[in-house]
Amino acid sequence: MDNTSYIEISKKAYKSNIKFLKKVVGDNVKISSVVKGNAYGHGYEQMIPLAEQNGINHFSVFSAYEAKQVFKYISDTSEIMIFGFINHEQLEWVIENEIEFYIYDLAGLENAGDTAKLLKKKAKIHIELETGFKRTGIEPEEFDSLILYLHENADNFVIKGICTHFAGAESIANYVRVKNQLILFKKYHKYFVKNNIIAEYLHTSSSSATLIYPEARFNMVRVGIAQYGFWPTPEVLLLRNNKYGDKESSLKRVISWKSEIMAIKKISKGEFVGYGNSFQAAKDMIVAIIPVGYNNGYSRSLSNRGHVLIHGRRADVLGVVTMNTITVNITDIKNAVNGEEVILIGSHNKNNITIASFSEMSSYLNYQILARLPMNIPRFVIE
Ligand SMILES: *Cc1c(COP(=O)(O)O)cnc(C)c1O
Repeated sequence: MDNTSYIEISKKAYKSNIKFLKKVVGDNVKISSVVKGNAYGHGYEQMIPLAEQNGINHFSVFSAYEAKQVFKYISDTSEIMIFGFINHEQLEWVIENEIEFYIYDLAGLENAGDTAKLLKKKAKIHIELETGFKRTGIEPEEFDSLILYLHENADNFVIKGICTHFAGAESIANYVRVKNQLILFKKYHKYFVKNNIIAEYLHTSSSSATLIYPEARFNMVRVGIAQYGFWPTPEVLLLRNNKYGDKESSLKRVISWKSEIMAIKKISKGEFVGYGNSFQAAKDMIVAIIPVGYNNGYSRSLSNRGHVLIHGRRADVLGVVTMNTITVNITDIKNAVNGEEVILIGSHNKNNITIASFSEMSSYLNYQILARLPMNIPRFVIE
């Protein structure tokens, strides 16, 4: 182990997730694999070839910076879509390399048109509509100017998509807001069609909407978290279970994160563990030090709350997570020795350290914990 921890990516789990998702959406809906944030911490280099092996040929990222990373690993037949930020200097690279990107305001549209003209290339655009999320998106008052510009500069564009993003489809509390967004999206789309703006793809759904709003799938979905084997929320699983009989295991965790014991030590009753006084031993204990801390992606909010697996048994984090270490309770794990495997995320026999259980404890979302796994942890693809 060249680092203090490593990540394993399961081919089998990923294959199973894609198979499940394809069954969910059917043959006529394209799945764009969302790989922002280093493929949710799983690693571009590992995930992109794996996704391609499973028939994925469309990848979504937030920025041109991320697109450049993904570009290194995709094959010639795959496409990249940027749904977020591109700065002025990056726009040429984006259009030159036929990367698809969102247009979310008129200035962006005009920049894209000018650059495309200069390069004698067509900009491949997705028109993002504001339907109620209130992040980015073209406002209805701007539709006519947008349509006019597109007609006047038709040679410079390929209209790949018309799209929007829901304000929290993962929670039923947002049901009315999401439904209203869908109604507006359909209405706006009709207006574009009436004005002869025809897009190849319509897309609105991330994992949650893909799973629970069939009418919002249109002909493309943008799936992030679910392809990595996580249910966006317990609610989404519950709804799927009620309606289709899906089980938690219908999605399989792709990632495992492992380290090893670096030191073992005895603590006497009454002594404090680690910085400060957040943990005091109520009895004599044995603890293990693990060389992974918040600098390595192990969230500080797991202080006195997280747990790991050693020999398939749970060991609780004692005291605060430091920059590079955690201390765990191995009093009842008698045969643990230095160098022994420690599972930070993953399973051993029936025991599981899922990120979901992490996040329920720490009130972090799965997304944040995954996205914070540093780039420099070595990642290996296993069967
Ligand atoms: C992150 C993101 C997605 C994917 O979301 P998941 O919940 O991970 O599936 C889709 N679309 C947009 C615009 C996003 O920002």
